[in-house]
Amino acid sequence: MQLNIEIPTGIVPAEGILPALRKVVNDAVAAGVARLPGGETEVSCRAGCGACCRQLVPISDIEARALAALVERQPEPRRAALRARFEDVARRLDEAGLGEAALAPTRQPMAEQKTLAARYFSQALPCPFLEAESCSIHPERPLVCREYLVTSPAALCATAGHPDIDPVAVPHLSTLAPRITAPDTGRRDTMALPMLFRWLDKNPTAPAPRPAEEWMGRFLAAAREASS
Ligand code: SF4
Repeated sequence: MQLNIEIPTGIVPAEGILPALRKVVNDAVAAGVARLPGGETEVSCRAGCGACCRQLVPISDIEARALAALVERQPEPRRAALRARFEDVARRLDEAGLGEAALAPTRQPMAEQKTLAARYFSQALPCPFLEAESCSIHPERPLVCREYLVTSPAALCATAGHPDIDPVAVPHLSTLAPRITAPDTGRRDTMALPMLFRWLDKNPTAPAPRPAEEWMGRFLAAAREASS
């Protein structure tokens, strides 16, 4: 793939390159959709189907900071309602014994990650941003949400691991996002989206701003390493 990526000029916080990362992921997903067998197969995801929005959605630290800022920018009473939804999901995860693991799901061994994802889905916890079964932050949704598209009947996504779910094959570039700040933070793990405020309470200090080229260079280096 050849990509034209616009990045900010100057020194920016790491989350400053999120718009560029969204463009990269969008283009990669569009390329995957374009490879579907012509005329016979189409993406069945539609606004109003939020079945996949009850899965464990892993996000990176830069997305956590951007989404927290997005929530805090909302006018009242929407801001307070969103914060209450986040707290409600986190509390219910605690009650299910999943709170700690949901703070760092990708730090678990792979077999345990699958068990955690299944247990999380069984709680049927809607994403705090899900409203009327649609994403209320669609233009700013996490990278991983952009990568989940299916061609099978949308209703199947309500059953975790249904054998007839047919996802569109796309590169999972979202998994590389934590690598952008890893040299500063020493962390490569993610968190379940509803835990982001809990995670920020424990990790309040953002990495120092750097030139946007440097942030993007780290992402592209991670992509090269993953594909080699
Ligand atoms: S951010 Fe939007 S698309 Fe992603 S899980 Fe939440 S509601 Fe769904």
